[in-house]
Amino acid sequence: MAATANESYPSPFALRVAIVGAGLSGLACAHRLAQQGTQVRLFDKARGPGGRMSSKQRPAATLDLGAQAFTVRDERFARQVDEWRHAGCVDIWPTHRYQASASGWQTHDDGQIRYCGAPRMSAITRYLADGLSAFADATLLLETTITALERQPKGWQLRDAHDNRYGLFDYVVISAPPPQAKALLADWEPMLSDACEERPQRSCWAAWAIFDESLPRLPVGDQWQSLHLEHPALRLVSRNHTKPGRKHQPESLSLLAQLDWSDAHIDATPASAAQQLWEAFVTTLPSDTSLPSPIDVGAHRWRYAQPASPGRQSFLYSESGLALCGDSFRGSRVEDAWLSGNELGAALLGRSV
Ligand SMILES: Cc1cc2nc3c(=O)[nH]c(=O)nc-3n(C[C@H](O)[C@H](O)[C@H](O)COP(=O)(O)OP(=O)(O)OC[C@H]3O[C@@H](n4cnc5c(N)ncnc54)[C@H](O)[C@@H]3O)c2cc1C
Repeated sequence: MAATANESYPSPFALRVAIVGAGLSGLACAHRLAQQGTQVRLFDKARGPGGRMSSKQRPAATLDLGAQAFTVRDERFARQVDEWRHAGCVDIWPTHRYQASASGWQTHDDGQIRYCGAPRMSAITRYLADGLSAFADATLLLETTITALERQPKGWQLRDAHDNRYGLFDYVVISAPPPQAKALLADWEPMLSDACEERPQRSCWAAWAIFDESLPRLPVGDQWQSLHLEHPALRLVSRNHTKPGRKHQPESLSLLAQLDWSDAHIDATPASAAQQLWEAFVTTLPSDTSLPSPIDVGAHRWRYAQPASPGRQSFLYSESGLALCGDSFRGSRVEDAWLSGNELGAALLGRSV
Protein backbone atom coordinates (compact mmCIF):
# COMPACT_ATOMS: atom_id res chain seq x y z
CA MET A 1 0.00 0.00 0.00
CA ALA A 2 1.51 3.29 -1.01
CA ALA A 3 0.86 6.97 -0.65
CA THR A 4 2.91 7.72 -3.71
CA ALA A 5 2.06 7.78 -7.39
CA ASN A 6 2.21 4.58 -9.38
CA GLU A 7 3.79 5.45 -12.70
CA SER A 8 2.79 2.21 -14.37
CA TYR A 9 -0.81 3.40 -14.63
CA PRO A 10 -2.15 5.06 -17.82
CA SER A 11 -1.64 8.76 -18.54
CA PRO A 12 -4.09 11.16 -16.78
CA PHE A 13 -5.99 11.64 -20.05
CA ALA A 14 -6.75 7.93 -20.31
CA LEU A 15 -7.52 7.35 -16.63
CA ARG A 16 -11.07 6.42 -15.69
CA VAL A 17 -11.85 7.13 -12.04
CA ALA A 18 -15.01 6.46 -10.01
CA ILE A 19 -15.42 8.38 -6.75
CA VAL A 20 -17.92 7.14 -4.17
CA GLY A 21 -19.06 10.10 -2.06
CA ALA A 22 -19.61 13.75 -3.04
CA GLY A 23 -18.64 15.29 0.27
CA LEU A 24 -15.79 17.79 0.26
CA SER A 25 -13.01 15.21 -0.07
CA GLY A 26 -14.66 13.41 -3.01
CA LEU A 27 -15.36 16.70 -4.77
CA ALA A 28 -11.82 17.97 -4.17
CA CYS A 29 -10.43 14.75 -5.62
CA ALA A 30 -12.80 14.98 -8.60
CA HIS A 31 -11.71 18.55 -9.39
CA ARG A 32 -8.04 17.73 -9.15
CA LEU A 33 -8.47 14.85 -11.58
CA ALA A 34 -10.90 16.55 -13.95
CA GLN A 35 -8.60 19.58 -14.32
CA GLN A 36 -6.15 17.24 -16.04
CA GLY A 37 -8.72 15.75 -18.40
CA THR A 38 -9.27 12.56 -16.43
CA GLN A 39 -12.65 10.87 -16.82
CA VAL A 40 -14.35 11.18 -13.42
CA ARG A 41 -17.66 9.67 -12.31
CA LEU A 42 -18.80 10.82 -8.88
CA PHE A 43 -21.60 8.99 -7.01
CA ASP A 44 -23.48 9.99 -3.87
CA LYS A 45 -26.37 8.30 -2.14
CA ALA A 46 -27.85 11.61 -0.94
CA ARG A 47 -30.16 13.97 -2.84
CA GLY A 48 -27.48 16.66 -2.91
CA PRO A 49 -23.71 16.86 -2.58
CA GLY A 50 -22.11 17.89 0.71
CA GLY A 51 -22.05 14.96 3.13
CA ARG A 52 -21.16 16.34 6.55
CA MET A 53 -21.14 19.87 5.13
CA SER A 54 -24.84 19.61 4.27
CA SER A 55 -27.38 22.17 5.39
CA LYS A 56 -30.97 21.48 6.33
CA GLN A 57 -33.71 23.40 4.60
CA ARG A 58 -36.69 23.96 6.92
CA PRO A 59 -39.76 26.01 5.98
CA ALA A 60 -38.59 29.05 7.99
CA ALA A 61 -34.80 28.79 7.86
CA THR A 62 -31.73 26.95 6.57
CA LEU A 63 -29.51 25.42 9.23
CA ASP A 64 -26.03 23.97 9.17
CA LEU A 65 -26.22 20.69 11.05
CA GLY A 66 -22.76 19.36 10.19
CA ALA A 67 -19.66 21.57 9.99
CA GLN A 68 -20.43 24.96 11.52
CA ALA A 69 -17.34 26.89 10.47
CA PHE A 70 -13.77 26.07 9.49
CA THR A 71 -10.25 27.31 9.93
CA VAL A 72 -7.41 27.50 7.40
CA ARG A 73 -3.83 26.47 8.12
CA ASP A 74 -2.46 25.04 4.89
CA GLU A 75 -1.39 27.40 2.07
CA ARG A 76 -3.03 25.30 -0.64
CA PHE A 77 -6.33 25.31 1.22
CA ALA A 78 -5.93 29.06 1.81
CA ARG A 79 -5.74 29.59 -1.97
CA GLN A 80 -8.85 27.47 -2.44
CA VAL A 81 -10.73 29.41 0.24
CA ASP A 82 -9.72 32.68 -1.46
CA GLU A 83 -11.28 31.38 -4.66
CA TRP A 84 -14.47 30.42 -2.81
CA ARG A 85 -14.62 33.87 -1.20
CA HIS A 86 -14.16 35.46 -4.60
CA ALA A 87 -16.99 33.30 -5.97
CA GLY A 88 -19.20 34.42 -3.07
CA CYS A 89 -19.84 31.02 -1.49
CA VAL A 90 -17.63 31.59 1.60
CA ASP A 91 -17.24 34.40 4.09
CA ILE A 92 -15.79 35.01 7.55
CA TRP A 93 -17.88 33.94 10.59
CA PRO A 94 -18.17 34.28 13.57
CA THR A 95 -16.61 37.28 15.17
CA HIS A 96 -18.43 36.92 18.47
CA ARG A 97 -17.56 33.60 20.13
CA TYR A 98 -18.34 32.81 23.73
CA GLN A 99 -17.85 30.04 26.21
CA ALA A 100 -20.36 29.15 28.92
CA SER A 101 -19.00 27.60 32.11
CA ALA A 102 -19.97 27.41 35.76
CA SER A 103 -18.57 30.93 36.17
CA GLY A 104 -20.78 32.38 33.42
CA TRP A 105 -20.25 33.41 29.80
CA GLN A 106 -16.86 34.68 28.66
CA THR A 107 -15.52 35.68 25.27
CA HIS A 108 -13.76 32.75 23.63
CA ASP A 109 -11.32 34.19 21.12
CA ASP A 110 -8.47 31.91 20.08
CA GLY A 111 -7.23 34.36 17.44
CA GLN A 112 -8.19 32.07 14.53
CA ILE A 113 -10.21 33.33 11.60
CA ARG A 114 -13.20 31.08 10.90
CA TYR A 115 -15.05 30.78 7.62
CA CYS A 116 -18.49 29.58 6.72
CA GLY A 117 -20.39 28.73 3.55
CA ALA A 118 -22.67 31.54 2.32
CA PRO A 119 -25.63 31.53 2.37
CA ARG A 120 -25.35 27.99 3.79
CA MET A 121 -22.46 25.63 4.44
CA SER A 122 -23.50 23.43 1.54
CA ALA A 123 -22.98 26.37 -0.85
CA ILE A 124 -19.31 25.30 -1.00
CA THR A 125 -19.95 21.73 -2.08
CA ARG A 126 -22.74 22.92 -4.40
CA TYR A 127 -20.25 25.33 -6.03
CA LEU A 128 -17.77 22.50 -6.50
CA ALA A 129 -20.44 20.12 -7.82
CA ASP A 130 -21.72 22.74 -10.30
CA GLY A 131 -18.12 23.45 -11.32
CA LEU A 132 -17.70 19.89 -12.56
CA SER A 133 -19.85 20.76 -15.57
CA ALA A 134 -16.97 22.89 -16.88
CA PHE A 135 -14.98 19.72 -17.54
CA ALA A 136 -15.59 17.62 -20.62
CA ASP A 137 -15.65 14.29 -18.85
CA ALA A 138 -16.78 14.72 -15.26
CA THR A 139 -20.22 13.75 -13.99
CA LEU A 140 -22.02 13.52 -10.65
CA LEU A 141 -24.77 11.00 -10.08
CA LEU A 142 -26.89 11.69 -6.99
CA GLU A 143 -29.30 9.38 -5.16
CA THR A 144 -27.07 6.50 -6.18
CA THR A 145 -25.96 4.23 -3.34
CA ILE A 146 -23.02 2.13 -4.40
CA THR A 147 -23.46 -1.29 -2.82
CA ALA A 148 -20.69 -3.39 -4.37
CA LEU A 149 -17.43 -3.29 -6.30
CA GLU A 150 -16.52 -6.02 -8.76
CA ARG A 151 -13.12 -6.58 -10.22
CA GLN A 152 -13.17 -7.38 -13.95
CA PRO A 153 -10.14 -8.28 -16.08
CA LYS A 154 -9.87 -4.70 -17.42
CA GLY A 155 -10.95 -2.61 -14.47
CA TRP A 156 -13.47 -2.11 -11.69
CA GLN A 157 -17.23 -2.16 -12.02
CA LEU A 158 -19.58 -0.55 -9.50
CA ARG A 159 -23.08 -1.76 -8.64
CA ASP A 160 -25.80 0.37 -7.06
CA ALA A 161 -28.78 -0.47 -4.85
CA HIS A 162 -30.97 -0.98 -7.96
CA ASP A 163 -28.47 -3.34 -9.51
CA ASN A 164 -27.35 -0.80 -12.13
CA ARG A 165 -23.73 -1.25 -13.15
CA TYR A 166 -21.14 1.45 -13.86
CA GLY A 167 -17.68 1.18 -15.31
CA LEU A 168 -15.13 0.02 -16.09
CA PHE A 169 -12.75 2.17 -14.02
CA ASP A 170 -8.99 2.10 -13.46
CA TYR A 171 -9.42 3.50 -9.93
CA VAL A 172 -12.24 3.54 -7.44
CA VAL A 173 -11.85 6.24 -4.79
CA ILE A 174 -14.01 5.77 -1.71
CA SER A 175 -14.49 8.98 0.26
CA ALA A 176 -17.27 7.70 2.51
CA PRO A 177 -16.49 7.48 6.25
CA PRO A 178 -14.33 4.39 7.00
CA PRO A 179 -17.09 2.03 8.25
CA GLN A 180 -19.04 2.64 5.01
CA ALA A 181 -15.87 2.37 2.92
CA LYS A 182 -14.94 -0.89 4.62
CA ALA A 183 -18.29 -2.44 3.64
CA LEU A 184 -17.40 -1.84 -0.02
CA LEU A 185 -13.79 -2.98 -0.07
CA ALA A 186 -13.57 -5.67 2.59
CA ASP A 187 -13.87 -8.46 0.00
CA TRP A 188 -11.13 -7.02 -2.19
CA GLU A 189 -8.44 -5.28 -0.22
CA PRO A 190 -7.72 -6.52 3.32
CA MET A 191 -5.07 -3.85 3.96
CA LEU A 192 -7.39 -0.97 3.10
CA SER A 193 -10.16 -2.70 5.01
CA ASP A 194 -7.89 -2.90 8.07
CA ALA A 195 -7.06 0.80 7.69
CA CYS A 196 -10.80 1.55 7.86
CA GLU A 197 -11.14 -0.69 10.91
CA GLU A 198 -8.38 1.32 12.62
CA ARG A 199 -10.41 4.52 12.31
CA PRO A 200 -13.56 4.00 14.40
CA GLN A 201 -16.03 6.87 14.27
CA ARG A 202 -17.82 8.88 16.93
CA SER A 203 -21.45 9.83 16.50
CA CYS A 204 -22.98 13.28 17.01
CA TRP A 205 -26.54 14.49 17.46
CA ALA A 206 -27.18 17.89 15.89
CA ALA A 207 -30.44 19.60 16.84
CA TRP A 208 -32.10 22.78 15.61
CA ALA A 209 -34.52 25.29 17.11
CA ILE A 210 -36.20 28.03 15.05
CA PHE A 211 -38.11 30.98 16.55
CA ASP A 212 -40.51 33.56 15.21
CA GLU A 213 -39.06 36.21 17.49
CA SER A 214 -35.56 37.09 18.65
CA LEU A 215 -34.10 35.56 21.78
CA PRO A 216 -34.04 37.94 24.73
CA ARG A 217 -30.82 39.65 25.69
CA LEU A 218 -28.58 36.92 27.12
CA PRO A 219 -25.76 37.40 29.68
CA VAL A 220 -23.35 38.82 27.12
CA GLY A 221 -25.81 40.86 25.09
CA ASP A 222 -27.30 40.42 21.63
CA GLN A 223 -24.11 39.96 19.65
CA TRP A 224 -23.18 36.35 20.41
CA GLN A 225 -22.85 34.09 17.38
CA SER A 226 -21.46 30.85 18.77
CA LEU A 227 -21.30 29.43 22.26
CA HIS A 228 -19.04 26.61 23.47
CA LEU A 229 -20.29 24.74 26.52
CA GLU A 230 -18.94 22.46 29.21
CA HIS A 231 -22.34 20.85 29.65
CA PRO A 232 -22.42 16.99 29.70
CA ALA A 233 -24.87 16.86 26.76
CA LEU A 234 -24.27 20.03 24.76
CA ARG A 235 -20.96 21.26 23.33
CA LEU A 236 -21.78 24.04 20.82
CA VAL A 237 -24.63 26.35 19.95
CA SER A 238 -24.49 28.37 16.70
CA ARG A 239 -26.82 31.17 15.68
CA ASN A 240 -27.47 30.36 12.05
CA HIS A 241 -29.12 33.64 11.18
CA THR A 242 -25.90 35.51 12.07
CA LYS A 243 -23.99 33.59 9.39
CA PRO A 244 -23.09 35.29 6.12
CA GLY A 245 -25.95 35.68 3.65
CA ARG A 246 -28.71 34.82 6.12
CA LYS A 247 -29.77 38.11 7.60
CA HIS A 248 -33.38 37.67 6.41
CA GLN A 249 -33.68 34.42 8.35
CA PRO A 250 -35.46 34.30 11.72
CA GLU A 251 -33.59 33.44 14.90
CA SER A 252 -32.37 29.86 14.45
CA LEU A 253 -29.99 27.78 16.53
CA SER A 254 -27.93 24.67 15.78
CA LEU A 255 -27.23 22.69 18.96
CA LEU A 256 -24.40 20.16 18.69
CA ALA A 257 -24.16 17.42 21.30
CA GLN A 258 -21.06 16.20 23.08
CA LEU A 259 -19.61 13.09 21.41
CA ASP A 260 -19.79 10.97 24.60
CA TRP A 261 -23.42 11.96 25.08
CA SER A 262 -24.16 11.20 21.42
CA ASP A 263 -22.58 7.75 21.60
CA ALA A 264 -24.55 7.02 24.78
CA HIS A 265 -27.82 8.25 23.16
CA ILE A 266 -27.23 6.80 19.69
CA ASP A 267 -30.63 5.04 19.73
CA ALA A 268 -32.63 8.03 20.98
CA THR A 269 -35.42 9.30 18.75
CA PRO A 270 -34.73 12.62 17.00
CA ALA A 271 -37.57 14.23 18.99
CA SER A 272 -36.11 13.09 22.29
CA ALA A 273 -32.54 14.13 21.38
CA ALA A 274 -33.78 17.56 20.24
CA GLN A 275 -35.76 18.08 23.43
CA GLN A 276 -32.83 17.10 25.67
CA LEU A 277 -30.39 19.38 23.83
CA TRP A 278 -32.81 22.30 23.94
CA GLU A 279 -33.31 21.75 27.68
CA ALA A 280 -29.54 21.58 28.13
CA PHE A 281 -29.21 25.00 26.47
CA VAL A 282 -31.89 26.46 28.73
CA THR A 283 -30.02 25.28 31.84
CA THR A 284 -26.96 27.31 30.82
CA LEU A 285 -28.95 30.57 30.98
CA PRO A 286 -29.71 32.63 34.07
CA SER A 287 -32.85 31.19 35.73
CA ASP A 288 -34.82 34.42 35.21
CA THR A 289 -34.36 34.30 31.40
CA SER A 290 -37.72 34.13 29.66
CA LEU A 291 -37.26 32.35 26.34
CA PRO A 292 -39.77 32.18 23.49
CA SER A 293 -40.87 28.67 22.50
CA PRO A 294 -39.28 27.42 19.30
CA ILE A 295 -41.70 27.07 16.35
CA ASP A 296 -39.65 24.22 14.86
CA VAL A 297 -37.39 21.79 16.74
CA GLY A 298 -35.74 18.62 15.47
CA ALA A 299 -32.49 16.70 15.35
CA HIS A 300 -30.28 14.80 12.95
CA ARG A 301 -28.04 11.94 14.01
CA TRP A 302 -24.62 11.71 12.40
CA ARG A 303 -23.72 8.09 13.00
CA TYR A 304 -20.22 8.69 11.61
CA ALA A 305 -19.51 12.28 12.62
CA GLN A 306 -15.77 12.25 13.22
CA PRO A 307 -12.90 9.81 13.68
CA ALA A 308 -12.08 8.72 17.23
CA SER A 309 -8.41 9.12 16.28
CA PRO A 310 -7.59 10.35 12.78
CA GLY A 311 -4.83 8.86 10.68
CA ARG A 312 -1.73 10.66 9.46
CA GLN A 313 -1.47 9.51 5.87
CA SER A 314 -4.00 11.79 4.14
CA PHE A 315 -5.07 9.03 1.76
CA LEU A 316 -4.31 5.42 0.90
CA TYR A 317 -4.35 3.41 -2.28
CA SER A 318 -3.50 -0.04 -3.43
CA GLU A 319 -1.94 -1.43 -6.57
CA SER A 320 -5.29 -3.00 -7.41
CA GLY A 321 -6.77 0.47 -8.05
CA LEU A 322 -8.77 1.02 -4.86
CA ALA A 323 -8.20 4.24 -2.92
CA LEU A 324 -9.42 5.88 0.29
CA CYS A 325 -9.68 9.56 1.15
CA GLY A 326 -11.65 11.72 3.57
CA ASP A 327 -11.11 13.67 6.75
CA SER A 328 -10.53 10.51 8.82
CA PHE A 329 -7.23 9.89 7.09
CA ARG A 330 -5.56 13.12 8.17
CA GLY A 331 -7.67 14.95 10.77
CA SER A 332 -11.31 15.60 11.47
CA ARG A 333 -11.92 18.97 9.90
CA VAL A 334 -13.13 20.55 6.68
CA GLU A 335 -9.56 21.47 5.75
CA ASP A 336 -8.43 17.86 6.26
CA ALA A 337 -11.20 16.58 3.99
CA TRP A 338 -10.25 18.99 1.19
CA LEU A 339 -6.53 18.28 1.52
CA SER A 340 -7.07 14.54 1.59
CA GLY A 341 -9.13 14.54 -1.62
CA ASN A 342 -6.87 17.03 -3.36
CA GLU A 343 -3.69 15.14 -2.46
CA LEU A 344 -5.13 11.80 -3.54
CA GLY A 345 -6.15 13.32 -6.88
CA ALA A 346 -2.64 14.64 -7.37
CA ALA A 347 -1.12 11.29 -6.44
CA LEU A 348 -3.31 9.42 -8.90
CA LEU A 349 -2.15 11.81 -11.60
CA GLY A 350 1.42 11.03 -10.70
CA ARG A 351 2.10 14.61 -9.65
CA SER A 352 3.86 15.84 -6.58
CA VAL A 353 1.60 17.10 -3.81
C1 LIG B 1 -21.83 17.67 13.59
C2 LIG B 1 -20.53 17.97 12.89
C3 LIG B 1 -19.91 19.18 13.13
C4 LIG B 1 -18.71 19.48 12.48
N1 LIG B 1 -18.12 20.69 12.72
C5 LIG B 1 -16.99 21.01 12.05
C6 LIG B 1 -16.43 22.31 12.21
O1 LIG B 1 -17.00 23.17 12.89
N2 LIG B 1 -15.26 22.58 11.55
C7 LIG B 1 -14.66 21.66 10.75
O2 LIG B 1 -13.60 21.98 10.16
N3 LIG B 1 -15.18 20.43 10.56
C8 LIG B 1 -16.34 20.10 11.19
N4 LIG B 1 -16.90 18.87 10.99
C9 LIG B 1 -16.19 17.90 10.14
C10 LIG B 1 -16.44 18.12 8.63
O3 LIG B 1 -17.82 18.24 8.38
C11 LIG B 1 -15.84 16.93 7.88
O4 LIG B 1 -14.45 16.89 8.16
C12 LIG B 1 -16.00 16.97 6.36
O5 LIG B 1 -17.25 17.47 5.96
C13 LIG B 1 -15.79 15.53 5.86
O6 LIG B 1 -15.87 15.48 4.45
P1 LIG B 1 -15.63 14.09 3.71
O7 LIG B 1 -15.75 14.32 2.26
O8 LIG B 1 -14.36 13.47 4.22
O9 LIG B 1 -16.79 13.10 4.22
P2 LIG B 1 -18.38 13.23 4.07
O10 LIG B 1 -18.78 14.65 4.09
O11 LIG B 1 -18.95 12.33 5.11
O12 LIG B 1 -18.70 12.66 2.61
C14 LIG B 1 -18.90 11.29 2.35
C15 LIG B 1 -20.02 11.16 1.32
O13 LIG B 1 -20.12 9.78 0.95
C16 LIG B 1 -21.48 9.50 0.68
N5 LIG B 1 -21.64 8.04 0.75
C17 LIG B 1 -21.38 7.21 1.80
N6 LIG B 1 -21.57 5.93 1.45
C18 LIG B 1 -21.95 5.93 0.14
C19 LIG B 1 -22.30 4.91 -0.79
N7 LIG B 1 -22.26 3.60 -0.45
N8 LIG B 1 -22.66 5.26 -2.05
C20 LIG B 1 -22.69 6.58 -2.42
N9 LIG B 1 -22.37 7.59 -1.57
C21 LIG B 1 -22.01 7.27 -0.31
C22 LIG B 1 -22.23 10.28 1.75
O14 LIG B 1 -23.58 10.51 1.38
C23 LIG B 1 -21.40 11.56 1.84
O15 LIG B 1 -21.93 12.58 1.01
C24 LIG B 1 -18.11 18.54 11.59
C25 LIG B 1 -18.78 17.34 11.34
C26 LIG B 1 -19.97 17.04 11.97
C27 LIG B 1 -20.68 15.76 11.66
